[in-house]
Amino acid sequence: MSGVAVSRERAAYDGGRTTADNRRQMPPACETHGSSAAENDPASDLLAHGDPQPLPRLTEAQLAALWRGRRFPEGALVTRGGVPVRVVHQGRPGRGPGPDFRGAVIAGPSGLTLRGDVELHVRSSSFRAHGHAADPAYAGVVLHVVFDDDTGADTPLPGGGTAPVVALAPWVARRAGELERWLERPPLWREPCHDAVARLGAEGAGATLDAEGDRRLAAHAARYAEEAAADGIGQALYAGLLEALGYGGNSTPMRALARALPWRALRAGGERAPRRGIARRQAFEALLLGAAGLLPSQRGRAVPPDAYVEPLERTFAASGLAAMPAAAWKLWGVRPANAPARRLAAAAALLDALGEPSALLRVPGAATAGEALRPLSAVAEGYWRTHFDPCAGPCRLPPALVGRSRALEILVNVVLPAAVAGGDAARARALYARLPRPASYGATRFLEGALASGGGRVPLDTRRAQGLLALHHDWCTQGGCGRCPLSEGREGEGRRSEGEGGRR
Ligand code: SF4
Repeated sequence: MSGVAVSRERAAYDGGRTTADNRRQMPPACETHGSSAAENDPASDLLAHGDPQPLPRLTEAQLAALWRGRRFPEGALVTRGGVPVRVVHQGRPGRGPGPDFRGAVIAGPSGLTLRGDVELHVRSSSFRAHGHAADPAYAGVVLHVVFDDDTGADTPLPGGGTAPVVALAPWVARRAGELERWLERPPLWREPCHDAVARLGAEGAGATLDAEGDRRLAAHAARYAEEAAADGIGQALYAGLLEALGYGGNSTPMRALARALPWRALRAGGERAPRRGIARRQAFEALLLGAAGLLPSQRGRAVPPDAYVEPLERTFAASGLAAMPAAAWKLWGVRPANAPARRLAAAAALLDALGEPSALLRVPGAATAGEALRPLSAVAEGYWRTHFDPCAGPCRLPPALVGRSRALEILVNVVLPAAVAGGDAARARALYARLPRPASYGATRFLEGALASGGGRVPLDTRRAQGLLALHHDWCTQGGCGRCPLSEGREGEGRRSEGEGGRR
């Protein structure tokens, strides 16, 4: 959906009062947050409350249960301006700080959809009272679902926008007698993947994941083919390696660094290392950290002189290379082991050991998964055993600069797609199909649970885990329930014509 369309649809939802003239006492903190509230079904709590007030009140956990199961009837969701709201996808319960449901899709009467997060509160004033109005994590809220609209205004978001408010109290006031039956009934809707194993069998569901995993690999390979045609396979692999090491919020600046300091410039700097009296790996570190703008002198930090860091500073200063602003990097809220400076030290270690990024193309010839992962793994040595950033003091850190799980991600997202793009598809696909399953991805935990919800078991490996990611990105987050490959065989669903489907 275009930005203009989003603005129009937002405008359609808007249309009520703009002043907050009836604020009430605010609760001190969110009653619930994230998945624990949303996943429990507290409908019975309400029934046990009795009726101490003229109007039955919902708790935030009950609101979450209603939202998650789409138990609200037609017509209950209406904005202050009288615009009815239809739920295309209720989103996934958020884990940790942030909105209650993430990646929801809602539609107005025109059929135009809005995609974003949904926040639930008993009172609309709680959004501001809980500090969400100043928290960037809430900037993507597209709907504020409340029991009681006590502010009388759309909800102000961090960054200047607003989210429409739908309040259930007016509907409940009209139909108080129906509320108990409403909460007692089973969810009106469940994602079709919950019964995919019953419909398709464990083998059929597994085959669907295999096909989706293959499709994801092919899509990545197409991207590498394009990049290799434009910049050469060495540069494409180098950029992919840096991007894969930027997990945890620094993938974009890692890509930018690969453009600012291309492989040929880094290699040339490594060749000059003996003249500067340092090892090639340390020269790589100096140029990567310096071009990233992460050396102490570039960050205005008064740190005590360090025998390891000083040659890095000197080597970069002598290179004459330009530096990115340090502000381009996410430095806060990142685990020390994933800090960008330490990731760059990891890149230096891998590139030094490989000699050339194109050496990665030999990996698909490995006889075992362990052999394939070895050149993608690196152990912390010397300074990096106890440091994650040249501006920080020593601390305890894991012994690996690149551990097994990150090495697997590099293999799957960089090496194998590049090998497929480079014409080594048979060996790359064979290795892909025998890689063990990676650690569970947060984004696909819901899908794993849905597939297991009927008691059937679909064994997962790397290829199928990639299939889950492909489903998540291309169907689940695109309102694809009923049309996705795991909806196949459902009455009136899953009948996709050629070219139809989620965004691919
Ligand atoms: S789109 Fe995603 S959530 Fe919906 S049925 Fe398909 S796999 Fe399940």
